[in-house]
Amino acid sequence: MRKRRVVILGSTGSIGESALKVARDIPDRMEVVGLAAGKNVARLMEQAREFSPRAIAIGDETAAAEFKIQNSKFKIPTHVGDDGLCELATLPEADMVLISIVGTAGLRPALAAIEAGKDIAVASKEILVMAGEAVMAAARKKGVQVLPVDSEHNAIFQCIEGRSPEQVRRIILTASGGPFRTLPAADLERVTKAQALKHPTWVMGAKITIDSATLFNKGLEMIEARWLFDVEMARVDVIVHPQSIIHSMVEFVDNSVLAQLSATDMCFPIQFAVTWPERVPNRLPPLDFTKLAKLEFEAPRTKDFPALDLARWAGTDGGTLPSVMNAANEIAVAAFLEDRCSFPAIWRTVEAVMRAHRNIPHASLAEILAADAWARAIAAEKAWHLRNKN
Ligand code: NDP
Repeated sequence: MRKRRVVILGSTGSIGESALKVARDIPDRMEVVGLAAGKNVARLMEQAREFSPRAIAIGDETAAAEFKIQNSKFKIPTHVGDDGLCELATLPEADMVLISIVGTAGLRPALAAIEAGKDIAVASKEILVMAGEAVMAAARKKGVQVLPVDSEHNAIFQCIEGRSPEQVRRIILTASGGPFRTLPAADLERVTKAQALKHPTWVMGAKITIDSATLFNKGLEMIEARWLFDVEMARVDVIVHPQSIIHSMVEFVDNSVLAQLSATDMCFPIQFAVTWPERVPNRLPPLDFTKLAKLEFEAPRTKDFPALDLARWAGTDGGTLPSVMNAANEIAVAAFLEDRCSFPAIWRTVEAVMRAHRNIPHASLAEILAADAWARAIAAEKAWHLRNKN
């Protein structure tokens, strides 16, 4: 029986807190050896008291100064900033790093962890969207595992179970459809932040909740699946399944379909990543089929929610285009959350920035990071459609 010694990057977030629940649930299988957060010093200190990690990292320098004052009694070694995250990701006592930082700040630590020979469990889909090719190539070279934590990819990982990509005809990502699944297209112009933040089936951080409402979350997941499972975009499909009980499916070349089901709780995929390849008992709720009224499926409304087609375009062309899509989306979502733009302006901005981009195929990491910065600047400065709040 193997106990994984895990560093959690983004421990104060929604995924980070779920990972700590898993650690409490299966203490003989998971030990928390490192914690990192952006600026939530109070919560990080509480977590440190409970889990006594070997080291801590804080992204924000002002918050780090405050943490150091509170930490003077405990004296837990503390690293600061982007370099600090990389230090923690290469902690000698760790054998797995969970990347659950929102956005792209997890990319460098993920690559550092792989280089140091550690398995990575990836929740931050943005890093695979930006640099999936580089991350997977680095992991293969080092012989370490990239374990998906996103519930859909974790489900696919469980269904594929080591079979080769040639045996897969189609990956079928399920999507809840978000809060506006049945809203008429014309009403999307008037959607408010509060409405968009109400996800029908999952409780998550703000950015991913908005991405679920626009369907950009599913678009990012299409590209994530393409790299994680080594299949081209044409073999990645999306189906709307409002109950979110089937987390995703794989259709094999013999026309058999395997699906993975569980209650909607991120502790399931986190635990699976930590204990893989084994399964161990836990205190999570089992599925009661007698209480599941029905499982429904419908085609996504790609015309009204253009995110899926934009993601298919980005994932098919590859190069720097997926990072441009991701970065422009981050800027547009931030603008929407600050009431600076309308809901449809999110995808209009992303499309405008993608159209303005000159793609670099088979881009290097430096070119990907430059494209990310370029897209952020264009989306923020020009903000073509961001101003059209009505
Ligand atoms: P949250 O916004 O809830 O949490 C984000 C975490 O990242 C916080 O701990 C935050 O710290 C930390 N953070 C932000 N910036 C930095 C930084 N520069 N350095 C160190 N830490 C930083 O996000 P979620 O947990 O919802 O999502 C995390 C990732 O997981 C995202 O990529 C998301 O797409 C993905 N994901 C999430 C799912 C979910 O159910 N929530 C499901 C599947 C994937 P602080 O609070 O201190 O600022």
